Amino acid sequence: MKLKPVPRIEINLDKIQHNAAVLKHLCEAKGVEVTGVVKGVCADLQIVNALIQAGITRLAVSKTFHLEKLKKAKINATLILLRTPGISEVPAVVKYADISMNSEMDVIRALSNEAVKQGKTHKIIVMVEMGDLREGVMPKDLPAFISEVMQLPAIEIAGIGTNFACFGGVLPTEEKMREFSSIVEKIKRQFALQLPIVSGGNSANLKWLLETDDIGSVNDIRLGESILLGRETTEGGIIPNLYPDTFKFVAEVIEAKQKPSSPYGYRGKNGFGESIEFQEHGWINHILVNAGRQDVFVPGLSPTKPIKILGATSDHIVIDGKKHQFEVGDEITFTPNYAAVLSLMTSPYIHKTYIEFTGSKHEKPNNVYSIYKQKFLPKH
Ligand SMILES: *Cc1c(COP(=O)(O)O)cnc(C)c1O
Repeated sequence: MKLKPVPRIEINLDKIQHNAAVLKHLCEAKGVEVTGVVKGVCADLQIVNALIQAGITRLAVSKTFHLEKLKKAKINATLILLRTPGISEVPAVVKYADISMNSEMDVIRALSNEAVKQGKTHKIIVMVEMGDLREGVMPKDLPAFISEVMQLPAIEIAGIGTNFACFGGVLPTEEKMREFSSIVEKIKRQFALQLPIVSGGNSANLKWLLETDDIGSVNDIRLGESILLGRETTEGGIIPNLYPDTFKFVAEVIEAKQKPSSPYGYRGKNGFGESIEFQEHGWINHILVNAGRQDVFVPGLSPTKPIKILGATSDHIVIDGKKHQFEVGDEITFTPNYAAVLSLMTSPYIHKTYIEFTGSKHEKPNNVYSIYKQKFLPKH
């Protein structure tokens, strides 16, 4: 038998492609284009390809490193830098991004100077603060800001964007979205600007987008987690007809013994400066697997069997195997959340493996899947 590498992340490209195709279709029905956000998977080229196969034509990342990777791979999509860049990053942004999101005049001025140097025009999306308190120009300052940007020789304003539910947890309500559209319309009128891209938010906006009767000026939405994990992010629910089980994390049992449930001996803080409480309940099936905090955000893992993660050190996850008799060499599978996927994809110690849609009975493609499979997915 050929041994599969462990620890590994198993990536189901077909399910991710399905999620992207369904979301694209739902958003298009409202006149909104989907920008696929791949920062959570380090712009993994196979995942990027799955999004392209689903018909996604705009991709967004948060690091210039990933822009460079996508540009060099000649990915056929508009490349957007999501995170407002630092001045030190400006040369790479102008070189590799088709569009960058911005909120600071000093940075935009540096982008203009650099674009002149590189003989280009650089496109930007100006970010507007709507209350979540991360990036964005305050609405009262926006007209003066736009006016100043318009005087720069090598900058083109490709659009206006906003962001919700990332830092302050502020939700994109009907009222907030109406306010955003009215800000956008005012700018359009005042400066006779086209604003081809009006980017209304991220996966947290999906509920609003799918339910609203009036999407206002919004014609773009930036979707990461909803494509990758099939989830709506304000309440964490699975979006109907999407696959939540797109990633699995598999680690290998390296020790399996009966041990007491509580540490014994005088106790201080553990190796991470923590004092952990233990519940005494006799002897347990005490299991160690070959991955730890250096590889994965352990609190973001849910075991697929009824076992319990007790904690982790840098290279071990400690598990209560409950009723399950594990042996050394067994594999244990976990479902990772977004934060865990992010860490697994970033870790050089985790093998990235790609699996095909299995089509087994319990995950039989639902109707929507088969429709989109005919329409969007390549024949296998
Ligand atoms: C991360 C990010 C997104 C994508 O967020 P999801 O919740 O994964 O959809 C969109 N826009 C900006 C500015 C981001 O930083």
